[in-house]
Amino acid sequence: MTISGIKIYGSDGELKKEISPEQAQIFYDQNNKSDWSLSPNERKIWDKYLNGRTLMDESYDPKPEPKPRAKPKRVIRNYTLTCKHCKKTVTIHNKKAVYCNRGCAYEAQKARQSKEKRSVKWRAKM
Ligand SMILES: [Zn+2]
Repeated sequence: MTISGIKIYGSDGELKKEISPEQAQIFYDQNNKSDWSLSPNERKIWDKYLNGRTLMDESYDPKPEPKPRAKPKRVIRNYTLTCKHCKKTVTIHNKKAVYCNRGCAYEAQKARQSKEKRSVKWRAKM
């Protein structure tokens, strides 16, 4: 919303004072301030704002929101891996990986499980 400038004339019709639209806007805002429902903290911020300060200058919130921490940059490293299953050498980004792909991981897990089953059977026979 914009407000046009205000011209104040004396009783003799002479221009006494001219208020620029910017000033008029400030007067209007100040007169209507009490109509707004501002929390005490918001009011504090608003008062500072009127004094030419902005939220960028300072934080007036007594309980400021925790600042989002800068995410650590994910460093993508290349690791050389010899797959435990197929023995292929691959370049991989996960340091902890032991298999070249999920397929190998799955196959290896299956193999391990059947081996475990076998060893259980074998022990059972003992
Ligand atoms: Zn593999």
